Amino acid sequence: MRDVPANYRSVRREIDDIAVSCGRDPQEILLLAVSKTMPEEDITSLYDIGIRDFGENRIQELERKVAALPEDIVWHFIGPLQSNKIRKAVKLASVIHSVEDISAVERLDRIAGEEQRKVKFLIEVNVSGELSKGGVTPADFMEIARAAAKCRNAVFSGLMTMAPFEASQEVLDSVFKGLAALKKQAEQELGITLPILSMGMSGDYANAIAAGSTIVRVGTAIFGKTSVI
Ligand SMILES: *Cc1c(COP(=O)(O)O)cnc(C)c1O
Repeated sequence: MRDVPANYRSVRREIDDIAVSCGRDPQEILLLAVSKTMPEEDITSLYDIGIRDFGENRIQELERKVAALPEDIVWHFIGPLQSNKIRKAVKLASVIHSVEDISAVERLDRIAGEEQRKVKFLIEVNVSGELSKGGVTPADFMEIARAAAKCRNAVFSGLMTMAPFEASQEVLDSVFKGLAALKKQAEQELGITLPILSMGMSGDYANAIAAGSTIVRVGTAIFGKTSVI
C-alpha cells in the first residue's frame, strides 16, 4: 500500500539524521514535497499532517491545484519559466526556483510590482554543464545575479540547481559545492544575503545537505513513481 504521509515522515527523518551528522540544524532545511503529476488527494494527505510547501513544474497544473486546495499552501514553481507564464507564476507561487535569464528577472520584478506580490525567486544554475538541464552557466551567473539584486518587488533569495541523474558521488559533491560557492561569491560581491540553496532530489539529497542545501525538492521518494494524472 502506498502511504504518502509515512514516506514523507521517513524522508524527513533521514534528512534530520543527515543534517545532524553534518553538524547542521535540521530546522534550516525545508523538505519540499514535489507533487507534480500527483493527484490532489496526495497533497491533502500531507496537508492533513501539517505540510504546507509543495512544488509544481507546470503552470496549468499549478493553477488547477491552487484553485482546488487550501489557501495557506505555499506553492513553489520549479519548472521551466516561459516569459508568457510569468504573470501566472507570480500570482500563484510564493517561490519561483527557475529563473534563468536577465529578461525574466526584469519581467518578474515588473509584474511582481504590478501584482503587489513579494514573490521570492532563485536563479537556476546549470553547474554540471549537461545540455539537457536548464539554468545559466556558472560563468554567466554573476551578471544575472547583479540584475537580480537590483529588483525592487520580486525578492532575489538564492540559487537552484539540478545534478545529473545517476552521477558519481564525486560529481554530485562538486555540483552542489559549486552552487554553494557561487552563492557565497554573490553574497560577498553584491553585499546581500541569499538564504536559499535549492538543491537535492530523491536520489541525491544526502550530498546536497552536506554541501549546504536549505531546500531539498523530493518527489519520487514521497509519492512513488506513478504519475496518476
Ligand atoms: C521532479 C523534480 C524534482 C523531484 O525529483 P525526484 O527525483 O522525483 O525527487 C526536483 N526538482 C525538479 C526541478 C523537478 O522537476
